[in-house]
Amino acid sequence: MPITKHKINIERLASSINELSRFGLNENNGLDRTTFTESELEAREWLKSELQKINLNVRVDEAANIWATRQGTNNALPVIVFGSHIDTVPNGGKYDGALGVLMALEVMKVLEENQIRTRHPFEIVSFSAEEPNPFGLSTFGSRAITGKLNANDLIGVKDPQGKLLTEAVKSAGGDPEKFEAAVRHPHEISAYVEVHIEQGKRLLKRNIPVGVVTAITGIYREEVTIFGEANHSGTTLMEDRKDALAVASELILSLEKICKSYPVKEVVGTVGKLSLQPNSPNIIPAQVDFTLEIRGATKNEINEVLLQWSNKVEEIKNNRSVAVKREILLNQAPAPMDDKVIEVMMEQAKQLYYEPLLLGSMAGHDATHMASITKSGMLFVPSLDGKSHCPEEESRLEDIEIVANVLLNTLLALDKRFDVW
Ligand SMILES: [Zn+2]
Repeated sequence: MPITKHKINIERLASSINELSRFGLNENNGLDRTTFTESELEAREWLKSELQKINLNVRVDEAANIWATRQGTNNALPVIVFGSHIDTVPNGGKYDGALGVLMALEVMKVLEENQIRTRHPFEIVSFSAEEPNPFGLSTFGSRAITGKLNANDLIGVKDPQGKLLTEAVKSAGGDPEKFEAAVRHPHEISAYVEVHIEQGKRLLKRNIPVGVVTAITGIYREEVTIFGEANHSGTTLMEDRKDALAVASELILSLEKICKSYPVKEVVGTVGKLSLQPNSPNIIPAQVDFTLEIRGATKNEINEVLLQWSNKVEEIKNNRSVAVKREILLNQAPAPMDDKVIEVMMEQAKQLYYEPLLLGSMAGHDATHMASITKSGMLFVPSLDGKSHCPEEESRLEDIEIVANVLLNTLLALDKRFDVW
């Protein structure tokens, strides 16, 4: 016997996507909705009024995260939370983050209009400042509520125009003085579910409309400095040189080679930032500074790539007689998603007749931090052309509809099963 499934209203969801994309729209058809800017504050007001329209209990916490709660039949049960973020990168697209929040809103509308009572209270969250921003603190809201940021981390932080982060947080309804009160504890939350665009081509290439995330990538970053020797580019023979840029080039290419030959495809290495001194046509480069980044789904993968590359650094350093300084900037462990949440997502997708793709998330998300306090899971929607963080970012409505239905039914299944076994 086929199982009856609740369905979302795709026309209504599509019109929410259009409405929210008015905030920050620029002449390139991109969105400038960086966190705590005027357009983002307007978008927050719009979202709050939409949440209030369906009688949710809306509050803004000390880190300016927006929460909206719908009562359950047993409000002693820990809440089931779902959402994402509505801030964008400069000239970004209308789906990154926003889609997860708007799908959450649509789910609540379906529950309301069908008068579906859940056992657990359900709660939407729209996290503050997920994207990199002029204050230099990304995943700000999710780090705040998981206790990874505290009031001291905000003191004196300014954007390049000199605006204080504490003032910006206040302008969005937060309270920097009582910042730690935003922390949510594991016993308060049953599960966290986030929908996001894939921002890659894996789903599209396989023509699969829904992705279930197994783990969110770990990110390792270091700053590398090569100390060579400046000298005349004409009079210094090749054998007498200590060319810092030539060393850096060898190291960059070796990183590419190590990652390409690594047996797991979802291991990636990048040198995205580089500067050299003195940077002059007739002087041998004396110093090169660059950032190294390695991402992978497990610590082991990242460590293996790092070890191979470190061996190469030692080898090249000795061969070319240069000094190398390395400083770790970030070592964020991969965040595995919860097995039970994954299982429910897989099952719900299959019951809706879609075989989902299990895949790792190569980008960081708020769910990375939520996984440290509660059972977390993520669903991915295919990104057309794999494009993201640009005006061309797009997802098909038919895929959005499928994933939204998987989300709705996953939440209802979690509500039945969690805090029972
Ligand atoms: Zn995002």
